[in-house]
Amino acid sequence: MNSAHPSQPESEPRSGHRHVLHGRAIGKTVDGPEGSLTILDGLEITVDAGEAVAIVGPSGSGKSTVLGILAGLDLPTSGEVELLGQGLGSLDEDQRARLRAGDVGFVFQNFQLLPGLSALENVMLPLELGGQDDAASRAREMLEEVGLGHRAGHQPLQLSGGEQQRVALARAFVSRPAILFADEPTGNLDTETGHRVIDLMLSLRASRGASLVLVTHDERLAARCDRRLLMQDGRLVERAAELAEAS
Ligand code: ADP
Ligand code: MG
Repeated sequence: MNSAHPSQPESEPRSGHRHVLHGRAIGKTVDGPEGSLTILDGLEITVDAGEAVAIVGPSGSGKSTVLGILAGLDLPTSGEVELLGQGLGSLDEDQRARLRAGDVGFVFQNFQLLPGLSALENVMLPLELGGQDDAASRAREMLEEVGLGHRAGHQPLQLSGGEQQRVALARAFVSRPAILFADEPTGNLDTETGHRVIDLMLSLRASRGASLVLVTHDERLAARCDRRLLMQDGRLVERAAELAEAS
């Protein structure tokens, strides 16, 4: 299904693994100003292929921390993450970066586009990192799919927040990731724009069969995912849909 991975013939995430993500006994302790702080403590999570999982919880409860660890951007203090059939603990920094460039997409609250590059160049980046030679044409198609073909030459600061997040979605999906991680993707957008961005994100995800791990404050958005997990005391607990809808 995904032809973009000549460097990893042994890894067939979409067809070969029922779970795309498995975190076991994840702990994270950091040095804070008041001494050591335990953010995550024995956290477990499993995400199946094609599944959309929402992570909700109060500010400061560790949602961004766990997302970074599950995506291989940060390392846990203890425990193990298996992402797309690979144990992240056994990969070095370069190998993790390669896995992310090919098979993993990210969307952040503050968009995180590179300011010196055009929209098109931002979308080309993951393809170039993955050594693809048709980066420009694929990036242009992807920009058109998010409705921004006419903004390809604009730099991020010349775009509205909603447009920047659509560029970020194009960048996240251009390498046809098996899994997308999104951290409060509507947090910096007004309600109306946020809804349009979410509709776009969910439709891109559905058309590609990608899994989604979404951190959000928005209960209505969480309710659109297959499962909701609540961050509580450094762990994730299942939360019923009725509860999410009622609050
Ligand atoms: P959330 O995304 O749920 O708002 P975070 O994962 O960003 O929460 O942070 C969880 C807690 O850990 C917060 O209290 C934050 O201040 C603290 N924290 C996160 N990263 C670090 C770090 N590198 N050093 C010290 N404290 C941190
Ligand atoms: Mg956060």
